[in-house]
This record gives sequence, C-alpha cells and structure tokens, in this order.
Amino acid sequence: LLIVGVIGAAIFAFQWSGPTFDPELLKGARVLVTGASAGIGEQMAYHLAGFGAQVVITARREKVLQQVAEKCQMLGAQKTLYIAADMTNPSDPERVVKFAVDKLGGLDYLVLNHIGPSPFTMWDGDVEHTRWLMQVNFLSYLQMTKTALPTLEQSKGSIVVVSSLLGKMCSPFVAPYTSTKFALNGFFGTLQHELAMQMSNVSITICILGLIDTDSAMEKVRGITNIQAWPASEAALHIITSGATQQTESYYPWFWYYGCLIRDWFPYFRDMSLRNLYQY
Ligand code: NDP
Repeated sequence: LLIVGVIGAAIFAFQWSGPTFDPELLKGARVLVTGASAGIGEQMAYHLAGFGAQVVITARREKVLQQVAEKCQMLGAQKTLYIAADMTNPSDPERVVKFAVDKLGGLDYLVLNHIGPSPFTMWDGDVEHTRWLMQVNFLSYLQMTKTALPTLEQSKGSIVVVSSLLGKMCSPFVAPYTSTKFALNGFFGTLQHELAMQMSNVSITICILGLIDTDSAMEKVRGITNIQAWPASEAALHIITSGATQQTESYYPWFWYYGCLIRDWFPYFRDMSLRNLYQY
C-alpha cells in the first residue's frame, strides 16, 4: 500500500508540476518547424496555425508543403511560408534557418523534427546508411542550431528537439535510427548545461516520444509488434506546449518518464520483455 501510495503521489506531482501553458504565448510567435510535410511535424504546423503563430515549414516535397501551408492559413496562422530543402545536403540546414530569420524578421522557436527514412530490420552491416542518417537526423540539427543561436539569444527563444524513447532505451530492428536519437539526447543534454552555465537566454526542450501513429511509423511496425501507438495530433500538441513552457525534458505518453526512471533496475526482465514485444 505504501509503495502504491508513493507511486500515486509521484505520478500526481509529475502530472501537475511545471508551468501551465498559455496559448497567448504563441500568438505571433515566429516558428520554424522541420519535417512538416507529414506526420507529427505537419500536425505541429496545424496547431501552431490555430494559435496564430507565424510559421515557416520545411521538408523535401515542395508541393506537399504548399498544401500544408494553405491549410495553416485557413486555420488562422498569422503568416505561413514554406521552403523545400534536403537535410542530406550539407548547405541546406543553414539556408533554411536564414530563410526563416529573413522572412520572419527573427525567430522565437526552432522545432527540430525531421528524420530520414530508415529500415525496421536487423542490422545488415551497412555502415554507409548510418553515416547518411547521422547527417539527416543529427548533424543537420546541429547545423541549424548553430545558425539559429544568435537570433534565439536576442529573442529569448527556444530550441525544441523531437527525440524518442529509442534515444533512451535499446530495442531490436532500429540500430541506425536509435544511434541518431541517442546522439541527439547526448548533444542537446550537454548543450542545455553549457547554455545554463553561460547564462544564455535560450532554452532547449527535449521531447521523448513513444510509438506514434504516423503513416511512416505504422507502415514499419505493422505485423511485427502490437505496441500501442498514440495519436500524432496529441503528440504534436504535447511538443508545442512543452517548448512554450520551456520544459527541459518532456515525455509523451507521460508514463514513459517512469519507464525511463526504472529502466536499469531489472535489466534481465527489461530485455526479455522488450524482445517479446516483437515477432521474429
Ligand atoms: P515522418 O516520417 O512522418 O515525417 C518525416 C518528415 O521529415 C517528413 O515531413 C519528411 O518530408 C521529412 N524528411 C524526410 N527526409 C528528409 C530530408 N532528407 N530532408 C528534409 N526533410 C526530410 O516522421 P514522424 O512524424 O513519424 O516523426 C517525427 C519525429 O518524431 C521524428 O523526429 C521521430 O524520430 C520522432 N518520433 C516519432 C515516433 C513515431 O512513432 N512516429 C516515435 C518517437 C519519436 P519529405 O519526405 O517531404 O522530405
């Protein structure tokens, strides 16, 4: 009973702690969202539009971006602009940030969300794919951060990094992807310390997501696992509110906070349960 009580109190405290979200914070806010042509990024663009933000969206497919931008305008965005870019191209991350800063006259939020496609299979020894994915999912985030930091310092802005449970726990079939997410958590966790030590105005929010029901994710796991997937629109709103309230780290769904907390208590059972989640 005591244990249940303590866990209950901890869940309650976690759920209700932290600043409350005020939608007014986002009215007119200048936001750049990457990977916004599909999935969670697209849903973030719609939420931001609904809050009356000024949004720049980016991804590779220009035609799709145009359609997302048109919908954002209908939903109430103060301004929506799009720029097609490929984050495998080393000059595109900087070009995109400069475009957003020029067109919006500065930047309040840099939301780093895009990922390149990666197979959901056992590692087959392909080193080149991991090198390529590191550029898309990790190095381009650093390049955009470097370019945006001076502007964000002026605006007391925020960097929001969309990461994953697979950046906290190892799981089968995702070796290249999980490497990029562990790298992100390590890099931006360190940057949080360094910015705080330098009394920087810039905050960093790292969002840890469980399985989300985007088309690309569902396509990969279908027939392989029955893990519950959570709605992309809710995940998107969670990311936006966590960034706007400047949380250091946030979890969606929330119970994964506790999953990560007890991750190393019983490693044998953890690993057996993880492997049993997948049909092989
Ligand atoms: P999607 O695959 O649905 O969307 C990926 C986005 O990135 C698309 O807009 C795509 O657009 C863009 N993109 C792909 N390649 C490139 C490239 N080379 N250059 C620029 N943009 C590119 O991803 P999700 O919405 O599922 O995931 C969003 C974020 O959430 C990711 O960071 C992911 O790791 C994280 N996450 C997702 C989970 C899930 O289960 N869905 C679970 C945990 C974390 P285009 O093709 O037009 O370029």
